This record gives sequence, C-alpha cells and structure tokens, in this order.
Amino acid sequence: MQVELHRHLDLCTRPATLYELAQKSGLIAQSTGFDSFMQSVLIREPMSDLNTVLAKFVIFQKILDRPEVLERIAFEAVLDCVAEGIGAVEFRFSPGFVCEYSGLSWSDALDGFEAGMRRALRSHSDFKAGLICIASRDLGQESVERTVEFFSQHRTRFIGLDLAANECDFPCLGFEGAFREVRKWAKITVHAGEAAGPENIWAAIETLGARRIGHGISAIKDPKLMDYLAKNSICLEMCPTSNWLTRAVPSFKEHPLPRVLRAGVPVCINTDDPGIFATRLPEEVRICRDQMGLSMAEIEFCNEHARKSSFLSGI
Ligand SMILES: [Zn+2]
Repeated sequence: MQVELHRHLDLCTRPATLYELAQKSGLIAQSTGFDSFMQSVLIREPMSDLNTVLAKFVIFQKILDRPEVLERIAFEAVLDCVAEGIGAVEFRFSPGFVCEYSGLSWSDALDGFEAGMRRALRSHSDFKAGLICIASRDLGQESVERTVEFFSQHRTRFIGLDLAANECDFPCLGFEGAFREVRKWAKITVHAGEAAGPENIWAAIETLGARRIGHGISAIKDPKLMDYLAKNSICLEMCPTSNWLTRAVPSFKEHPLPRVLRAGVPVCINTDDPGIFATRLPEEVRICRDQMGLSMAEIEFCNEHARKSSFLSGI
C-alpha cells in the first residue's frame, strides 16, 4: 500500500476548483482565463524569496470562506489520492492559516474538512486518512498556544500535531512552553531543517518532542544527528519538488534523500503542497528514480518507512 505522510489539505486544492471558487467569490475578474490564472498561482520555477511564495498562498486562503468549500476540498483531496494510487494519507492543516481571512471558527473548519473526508471514504472504505493539526509559528506565540489548546480539545479527531511555517525567524526553541504538556502524550512532527540548519532539527526533537521531521534537509550536515535519527527511527518527510522550488536544495541531483536513505535514516517521499507546486505522488517517485538515482527497491523502502512511521493506526 502506498502511504503519504506530508500533504497540506489547505494547499492541495484542484486547479479547476480553485479557479471556479475564485471567480464565484469575486477574487478574480470573470474575464480572467483559466491558463493565465494558473500561471499566476502555480510555482513552477524556484522562487526568488520566501515572500513570493507566501503571496501565492493568499488566494488558497481566501477561497476557504465557508464550511461547504472546505468539505468539497477535502472530498476532492481524498479522491485525488485514490487516483494517485495512495492507500493511506496523513493530511494536515493549520486552523489559524485556514481561518485567517474568512473569520470562520476553527471548529467550523475542522467540521468542514472532516465531513468531506467522510463523504469520500463512504465510497472508498479501504482508504485510510487522518488529520494533523498545524500550529503556524509565524502567527505568533499566542496563536501557537491557542492551536495546541484546540488540538488538545479535539484530540480524538486529530492523529498528530505539527509546528510549521517560517523556521528561520521563529526557531523551535521559542515554543518549548507551548509544547511542554502536549509532548507527553501527542504524536508530534515538526517542519524543521528545511530553510534552517540541523540545530533546528535537534530542537524539534529535544525541545518539542518531535517523532518525525518535516523535510529535515539539513540533517545531512550533522553526522551526530544522522546517527541519532537512524538509532531512534525518526523519519524525515522529504518533498522533492517542494524542496527544489523553495530552494531548500539547489537541484534534484543534489537532494540529500538518497544519501540519507543509504545512511540508514528513515525517509519517505511526499508532495507537500500539490495544489501550488502542481505535483502528484507518482511524479515525486519518478523524480526520485530518474533524477536522484533511487532503485525501485529503495523507493519501496521509503514507502515502508512511511508506513512504519505513520501516526495512523492499522496500516
Ligand atoms: Zn509542509
């Protein structure tokens, strides 16, 4: 069974759906053509700076204005995973990010996404899907604390907790207090070592209690850390296209995934934000094979790491 652990539900909206919703809510002119709209939305070349990509997120946030919209996006996201040959997926979303423009309540957002997943699972009963709650570190300390509280209140509806967004200006060490209690019982993954160095991966593990790391690109620079990750089976959720487009790696050929895998560190292959990076899991697998030189056995090994490291039960 194909397993994906790192896919943002709020950034995997289908192009046609995004276009339709943006027109309906007046975010773009009726005269805007589909192709020119997608050209302005998608990231296909490495971006010049972080602000460029953040500006691209806004349209994805602004269409999320009603629970029915969230329901549809989650429904379509499950169907897309099924079409990609995935059997189990961990979706994640940030309540603070999703509700930033709409003023929707965080509970409405969770209800909406859950309802869409449930509707899709009715006709795909073998498919497994779970939700990870993201605390967006760049929304500030108070928002992170509120998100951890929200996650704790809805602990039966989430499979895990994540800390994401700008790790350079908001390093993991600053959130020790917010994670002090929750790390005792929650399954935690943290975006770390994507733009920042290995010290942020150490802090994600030691200070926040992370059992998995989102991206972890810079782990390769620290042999002691690599050894620790291997010994403690801490899986790196790597996302080739995303890592290239955000300039976390200069090229696919220089991506550390093969070296990490061959050093015995668990690593898996993911899409991150398929709606904005125009990618799919089979495409990420193809890149690992054709551009990074992974054998089919190694690709299968990555999938096995995803399965073993999943926060979903029974897969
Ligand atoms: Zn991510």
